[in-house]
Amino acid sequence: VTDWQGKHVTVAGLGVSGVPAAKALHGLGAIVTVVNDGDDERARAQAAELEALGVTVRLGDGATLPEGTELIVTAPGWRPDKPLFAAAAEAGVPVWGDVELAWRLRGPDAAAWLAVTGTNGKTTTVQMLASILEAAGLRTAAVGNIGVSLLDAVLGEERYDVLAVELSSYQLHWAPSPRAHSAAVLNLAPDHLDWHGSMEAYAADKGRIYEGNRVACVYNADDKATEDLVREADVEEGCRAVGFTLGTPAPSQLGVVDGVLVDRAFVENRQRNAQELAEVSDVTPPAPHNIANALAAAALARAFGVPPEAVRDGLRAFTPDAHRIAHVADVDGVAYIDDSKATNTHAAQASLAAYESIVWIAGGLAKGAAFDELVARSAPRLRGVVLIGADRALIREALARHAPEVPVVDLERTDTGAMPAAVREARRLARAGDTVLLAPACASMDMFANYNKRGDAFAEAVRELGASA
Ligand code: ADP
Repeated sequence: VTDWQGKHVTVAGLGVSGVPAAKALHGLGAIVTVVNDGDDERARAQAAELEALGVTVRLGDGATLPEGTELIVTAPGWRPDKPLFAAAAEAGVPVWGDVELAWRLRGPDAAAWLAVTGTNGKTTTVQMLASILEAAGLRTAAVGNIGVSLLDAVLGEERYDVLAVELSSYQLHWAPSPRAHSAAVLNLAPDHLDWHGSMEAYAADKGRIYEGNRVACVYNADDKATEDLVREADVEEGCRAVGFTLGTPAPSQLGVVDGVLVDRAFVENRQRNAQELAEVSDVTPPAPHNIANALAAAALARAFGVPPEAVRDGLRAFTPDAHRIAHVADVDGVAYIDDSKATNTHAAQASLAAYESIVWIAGGLAKGAAFDELVARSAPRLRGVVLIGADRALIREALARHAPEVPVVDLERTDTGAMPAAVREARRLARAGDTVLLAPACASMDMFANYNKRGDAFAEAVRELGASA
């Protein structure tokens, strides 16, 4: 679509992507109607803002396709099985996500995209990548879930050489067209299966990130599922498959040798077969999963032509965001760690693997996940478990099956006061030298507005322990 004048576009969902999308489309001359399921205070405020511009907003009715709709631009989180999309399919109306819209609206001098997806580590990797690109003197931004929104980066005043783009499986589902310079799938584990319908459908949506790549498809050589996605992708001629591994790299891979991150894929000096990039200790925190994130970021930067020194400087300059394995305090010789961002079993497994003797605080919304593998693998390191949240029974049952000897306290609570109670129980279970780890393996929305609030509640409860110690 190039001519938006008078085109009837329906934007599905207000919120972080819907409001900017509606504004952008209205600005281009489209006739915009926003449909939204909810009709709460926040929705009304957003609606008022859009209506003042001349956008029509229908609150409390996200199911009916407005008369005359020629295109739907949907919020990425809207499930494909919603009645609105059935009606669209019936009427032959295409559906785009916010990423598709951004791709189609980008200008002729648009920045290249270095794209990142994966079950876990997306935000961290994209931030590391942006830090590396900045160290190389490039005009760049980390776009996606945090920082600049993709639509703003594409349509705003600021000019970029290259964008580090975080893409969720939802966004990829609704974005058939984008073609990245290079892209990485960090890892693939069951998550959001209720939304996608099956593991196959989830993997297929993630795999779209490689479609049409020009220079490199970066995969995790320690996670075969990501390599399979590269093999299935349709890429430009000359595009290379580049693996990263925590072990010794094969040719055309990046990996780790004697505590050094090395690159055997993009070696400038033909006399050598490896290029040293950085020390493991340049990466914060130097936990294995985070070294993997750093290698993926390095691979994308190297594909874009960034020199080794900039990789090292960019990694050194990077500091992780809050609630990602953040050390809150030591109380009575016990370390309290906030990994509230571990919202699925794969992430929780990575942080449980980083400590020896753990009192684990877990529970929340399971999103269709199974806990058997996580619990079976982590059982030898568990001193005890404290459960909170809506789906805690799923974890309790997995513990009964795979770790019957580990003491479990099920608080049977989903109110916000459950967090301080959980921290007090954890303290009771812990001995000096242990780690109390909030790594819920679940989403937070049963008890909190988001994972930030959950992590804040944990940190506050820990500080209260310290004060009363
Ligand atoms: P995302 O944006 O994909 O949600 P984040 O970088 O915000 O990823 O990290 C989410 C959670 O996953 C954190 O709890 C973190 O400890 C964990 N994590 C980060 N990177 C990895 C990885 N490569 N493998 C497994 N878990 C990871």
